[in-house]
Amino acid sequence: MPKQSVNSIEDKLRGLRNSYIQHLPGKIKDIQKLWNSLCNGWQHETIDELHRIVHSLAGSAGTFGFAQMGEIARSADNILKNYRDTEIPPHNSVKDELEDIFEKLSSFCNSITKQAEEVIDSTGLDVTHKTANITSTVKNRIFLVDDDNESASELALQIEQFGYDVTVFNSIEEFNKAITVTPPTAVIMDVVFPEGEFAGIEAVRKIQRQRAVHLPVIYVSTYGDLKSRLHAVRSGGDAYLTKPIDINMVVETLDILTSFHGNDSYRILIVDDDKYLAEHYATVLRNADLDVKIVNDPMEIMNVLVDFNPELILMDIYMPGCTGLELAKVIRQNVSYLNLPIVFLSTETGQEQQYAALRMGGDDFLTKPIDEGHLISSVMSRAQRSRKLAEAITRDSLTGLLNHAKLREQLDIEVLRSERQGTNLTFAMIDIDFFKKVNDTYGHVIGDHVIRDIARTLNQQLRRTDIIGRYGGEEFAVILPDTDEKSAKYALDKIREEYAQKQHVLGKEHFNITFSCGISGISSSKNAETIVVKADEALYEAKKKGRNCIVILP
Ligand code: GH3
Ligand code: MG
Ligand code: MG
Repeated sequence: MPKQSVNSIEDKLRGLRNSYIQHLPGKIKDIQKLWNSLCNGWQHETIDELHRIVHSLAGSAGTFGFAQMGEIARSADNILKNYRDTEIPPHNSVKDELEDIFEKLSSFCNSITKQAEEVIDSTGLDVTHKTANITSTVKNRIFLVDDDNESASELALQIEQFGYDVTVFNSIEEFNKAITVTPPTAVIMDVVFPEGEFAGIEAVRKIQRQRAVHLPVIYVSTYGDLKSRLHAVRSGGDAYLTKPIDINMVVETLDILTSFHGNDSYRILIVDDDKYLAEHYATVLRNADLDVKIVNDPMEIMNVLVDFNPELILMDIYMPGCTGLELAKVIRQNVSYLNLPIVFLSTETGQEQQYAALRMGGDDFLTKPIDEGHLISSVMSRAQRSRKLAEAITRDSLTGLLNHAKLREQLDIEVLRSERQGTNLTFAMIDIDFFKKVNDTYGHVIGDHVIRDIARTLNQQLRRTDIIGRYGGEEFAVILPDTDEKSAKYALDKIREEYAQKQHVLGKEHFNITFSCGISGISSSKNAETIVVKADEALYEAKKKGRNCIVILP
């Protein structure tokens, strides 16, 4: 699927800018009203509110292309902040200075709105009604680069059997062109090309340098010497496989590098009371394929944290109700969010303020107005690290699925959500049949292959919203949100029947693997505990009935 076209992104950003302009006169009026009231009587709440509006203007004007106005607002911001914690009104000369600044802001605002009207008149553009249709890139797209077309095509075919979408390039030049248009999830790169003995590695090195986020790369080469391997590591390669290629090794490495769900867009939460500014950041980040949600009212953040489960928070500092620093402290009080990166967005340039923000549990500090490229790369690299950390704690290393503890935690969350939203929820437990015999006959390594293969199958066949875990040795569990028992059984039966047909090949031997499954739903259980117990009982029944079947207990 093509990314959203450059035009529509520009339209969207222009639309936001226009909306921002439309709301500017209101802001200036508020500033004047508050200032007039302060001149009549110096009051704490009034100065706080005035400071907040001026401060937010200082941060937002530059983002929408009015740097000079931002600078003027910033000078008022710097004066006003000295009067926030004191009852003493400013000296007349300071008042005159502020008066002067506010007048300048007002005349700036007038000329901006006037210019904007002329532009809108001349283009007939009314972008406020345009909504961005932001599409995500294809999942699991692999680029395979090898000048030997025949062996590349064959390898591609094999990898595709495992649910990857592979595009073959026979020259580095073709590959370089394609990668700028549609970046893949991972690259499989030959090392030797007509251009040179390390030409493949050189090409990767150049690409990694230009990227904000690491691109997973597997090298395949005829040579396994240390010099080549060192080159490969230094260029930002993740794995080095020697030819002849073992297809299982390639797929398992791809699985790890793309870590199943790991190629989902990073979830970013923006907390900013300035609607247009928040929407501007969101548009920029969504265009970089990030999944973005906005909270304008800081008081609403707790629910969004649970439902959206962000991997990074971009947080404004000055907001009505509570400050970003306080909010960060509240979030950090919950141990589940101890590792969630919080990046503060602020107009604040003083080092003291920045240190304070970092002490409060912030991870970084971006100063408004923020360069778009800088915003994307800071957010991406932090989100990537956050996900890797989270996965190391919550995922099973053999399969990449959620581990037992994390799956149980997710079940608690999903049960609460289904209660709150009145939606269905089904839990399924899956156990491989006679697995001991597989180990005994073919050995543990083959047993491990089978466990991974079933994990991969579940991952590919179930919906992205289903939550899959490795519950124990050869046991899996699936949480199916928004699904009743019957639909869950239907979906899992299809997977079960298909899987039972699959031939596992080992040398000259062929064998089949089946699994049994027990299902229970929220409608017949009160809490997570009873759902698990009932699914376990159902699984036991399925085994008793002869295996390779699914049982729902009434
Ligand atoms: P049933 O159909 O009743 O489930 O029979 P089963 O043989 O599958 O069940 P049982 O619980 O008797 O044996 C499960 C086996 O799975 C025993 C254990 O050695 C093996 N196993 C558990 N974890 C792993 C693993 O990570 N890798 C491998 N290769 N085997 C494992
Ligand atoms: Mg078993
Ligand atoms: Mg078992």
